[in-house]
Amino acid sequence: MSDKPISKGDVVAVVRPTHCCGIEDALGFTFTVSSVTHSTRRCIYCGTIFTTLTAQCSEGKFKGLSCVISRLKRFDPDLLKDDIPTGEELHV
Ligand SMILES: [Zn+2]
Repeated sequence: MSDKPISKGDVVAVVRPTHCCGIEDALGFTFTVSSVTHSTRRCIYCGTIFTTLTAQCSEGKFKGLSCVISRLKRFDPDLLKDDIPTGEELHV
C-alpha cells in the first residue's frame, strides 16, 4: 500500500465519519477524485466551519460531491485490476 497523498485519478471511499459531529451517513461512498483543493468548508450537518484539503468528484453518480481528505481511504490500484483468471488461463 502506497502512502502517497490522495490525488487526482485516485479511487477513494469515505471510511470515517465527520470529524466535527461524527455523522456517518456518507460512509461507503466511493468515487474517483477529479481534483484536490484546500478550501474553507461548512459542515452540512452541524455548521462547523473549517479549512482543510478536500477531494472533488466531477463525474458520474457522485458528481459535485466533495469530501474532506482525512475521511477518505484510497483503494490500492493493484486491487482494482481485473486479474480474475479466465477459463483459458486455468488450463494447464
Ligand atoms: Zn459537523
